[in-house]
Amino acid sequence: MTGVTLELQSVTRRFGPVTAVDKTDLAIEQGEFFALLGPSGSGKTTLLRIIAGLERPDEGRVLIGGREVTDLPPYARNVGMVFQNFLLFPHKTVAENIVFPLRMQRASRAHRDEQLKWALSLLRLDGLGGRYPNELSGGQQQRVALARGLIARPALLLLDEPLANLDRELRSEMEVEIRRYQKELGIPFIYVTHNQEEALTMSDRIAVMRNGRFEQIGAKTEIYTNPASAFVATFVGHANRISGGIADIQGDLARIEWGGGSVLAPRPGSAQRGSAISVFVKHEDMAIHGAGLNGKRPEGVNQLAGTLRDIIFKGQTANYIVALPTGDDLVVSGTPRAGVARPNDAVIVSWPIEAGACFPREDA
Ligand code: ATP
Repeated sequence: MTGVTLELQSVTRRFGPVTAVDKTDLAIEQGEFFALLGPSGSGKTTLLRIIAGLERPDEGRVLIGGREVTDLPPYARNVGMVFQNFLLFPHKTVAENIVFPLRMQRASRAHRDEQLKWALSLLRLDGLGGRYPNELSGGQQQRVALARGLIARPALLLLDEPLANLDRELRSEMEVEIRRYQKELGIPFIYVTHNQEEALTMSDRIAVMRNGRFEQIGAKTEIYTNPASAFVATFVGHANRISGGIADIQGDLARIEWGGGSVLAPRPGSAQRGSAISVFVKHEDMAIHGAGLNGKRPEGVNQLAGTLRDIIFKGQTANYIVALPTGDDLVVSGTPRAGVARPNDAVIVSWPIEAGACFPREDA
C-alpha cells in the first residue's frame, strides 16, 4: 500500500490541432493540497476534467487508489467536484443541494441524513439546511458547494477556480478555510487556479502548467524561491526583469550588460559570453535607498539609480515604483514610509547577487 491516491500516466488530450494536455505524469499523495497553476488555456481545466472522468484522454491512464479508472464514468470514480460557477440548484434547499450526489448514488435515507449532519457541521452550516441558496451569503453558498463536493466522502476533491466569483476579502477568508478543511479531512485536494497568490496560500505542492505540460512541479516554497524557468519566475514571482547580454563570466557569476549599465547574477548553467539573458529579482529582494527611505548608502555591487515615480501603499507593505533612465520601471516592495519619500526623489535600488535568477532570454 502506497500513499499515492491519484496517478496519471502519460495522459494526453487533443482538440483538433490543440494539444490541451501533453503526455502528463503525476502522482498525488494522500493528504496533500495540490495546486494546478497556469495562465488561461494552459490545460488546467482539461486535466481536471480528465481526472473527474468528464473528459476521456486520447492516450494514457488514470488511476485512483491504485485502480485504473480511465474508462469509468465520473460517478464511479469516488471523486468530488467543486466548480467556479458552483451552480447550486436555486429551487432546492441547502440540505437538498448538499445530498444531491448521494441521491444520485441511491444511498439510503439514513445514510444521507447521517452524512448531511456531518457535512453541515464540518462546513459550519448548522441550522441553514432549510434555507434556499438566495438566502445565503456568498461565502455560505461556497461552503454549500464544498459540502456537496464532500458529502459522498470522496477519495479526492477537485476544485476548479471555486473562488473566482467572490470578492477579494471573502476570497482570502475562504482560501484559509478551504485549506483548513483539507487538513482536517486529510484527503487530497486538487485545486485549479490562475492566481499565484491563491496557489501559494493554499497548497502544499504546485504544478505550473504551460501549453499542456508541467513547466515545474514542486513544493510551493521551492517553486517560489527556485523557479526553474523564466516563465515560472514571471508567473509566480512578482519579479523585476532585467534583460541584456553576458559580457563576462567569472566563476559562478555572470556580468550582464544591459541598457542601464551592468549587473552581476549567478551564472546559469549553459550560459556563455554573449548569451542573451534575463535576470529576475523579486520585488521583496530589492532594497530602495534615498532621502526619507533608508538613509545609509546601499552596499553590494548591484545598484541602479533612478527616480521614484510612485508609492503604492498596500497596508503592511508598500510598492515603490522606480523609473530608470532606460525607461524601464522596477518595483520594490518595502516598509511603508508614506509622506517621507516623495515622487520624483532620486533613489538607488540595490539587491544581493544571489537574489537574481538568470534564464536564457528566449524562454521568457
Ligand atoms: P482557463 O484558465 O482559461 O480555464 P485552462 O488552463 O483551464 O484555461 P483549458 O480549458 O484546459 O485551459 O484549455 C486548454 C486548451 O484546450 C485551450 O487551447 C482550449 O482552447 C482548448 N480546449 C479545451 N476544451 C476544448 C474543447 N472542448 N474543444 C476544443 N478546444 C478545447
